[in-house]
Amino acid sequence: MRCACLDGAAGKVRWMDRFALAARATLLAASLTLSAACGAESQAARTPAPAGSDGLLVTYVCNDGFMLSIAGKKILVDALFDDERDICRTLPDAAAPDSGVDLGGADLVLVSHSHWDHFDPLVVGDYLLANTRTLLVAERSAAEELAARFDAYERVRDRVRVVDPADGEATRITLDGIELTAVSAPADVPNAAFLIRVGGATLFHTGDVNLEAAPRIGDYRLGQEGIDVAFVPYWYLLDDKGRSLLDGLIGAADYVPMHYAGENLNGVFAAVRRRYPGAVLFTAAARTWTRSIDTASVAPRTSP
Ligand SMILES: [Zn+2]
Repeated sequence: MRCACLDGAAGKVRWMDRFALAARATLLAASLTLSAACGAESQAARTPAPAGSDGLLVTYVCNDGFMLSIAGKKILVDALFDDERDICRTLPDAAAPDSGVDLGGADLVLVSHSHWDHFDPLVVGDYLLANTRTLLVAERSAAEELAARFDAYERVRDRVRVVDPADGEATRITLDGIELTAVSAPADVPNAAFLIRVGGATLFHTGDVNLEAAPRIGDYRLGQEGIDVAFVPYWYLLDDKGRSLLDGLIGAADYVPMHYAGENLNGVFAAVRRRYPGAVLFTAAARTWTRSIDTASVAPRTSP
């Protein structure tokens, strides 16, 4: 069985293509809908957030793309790109009933950097046109690409915030109910990582960080931020060296590996399960994971 949203031998339409085409061709007058939602996998014991609570709902989009829903807020991170290389394929595993995942109406869209597998200026631009309340926070090179290539940029520019923190520095943006901190987390290109406080949760999305090469990532003392869930490149969950980097630099309670779209998924998943059995693995697009947030303990923890 397979998720209804997924491509298969019989289904030529990939959902990401459908999203991109819809975004470009229809002005997204209607909501953007994926047609399946399935549960994420974790070998750790989880307590699903009760329906109607302020728990965190994470929906996997593709690659580094996620939708984060909590306390009535919806945040998209690195989720709006054009799958021009067909990397958004998924494992042919368990199906789920159609339940519809609506990517529209986000309060906030975050872009870590301008690589095609994280960001497409036309998809993002059309999304902003169609979702008139959405604010975009984008790393400088992505924002510049949006301004240069999206014809209707003047119609959305007042909702674009550019972040370009220098190494060791941070840019803070406070929105209604969301506190966002962008930090410098470079790899081979400038890259912003996002610390997000929303609904009592503290979330961290690294984008394409190279934790070994990012010279001053330790300056941020992220371990003291009380990060509940960190979204990190999967290769840091494959060996003891990666684990010590995560423990030493991020110190999150839960890790969601990412950036495995287009890779040998069975090999990746097996390796992560072996070395990091508590990791939250999304093995198919549109899968979801719920997590309770203890709002009584939102004060930052002290790092070890
Ligand atoms: Zn990437």
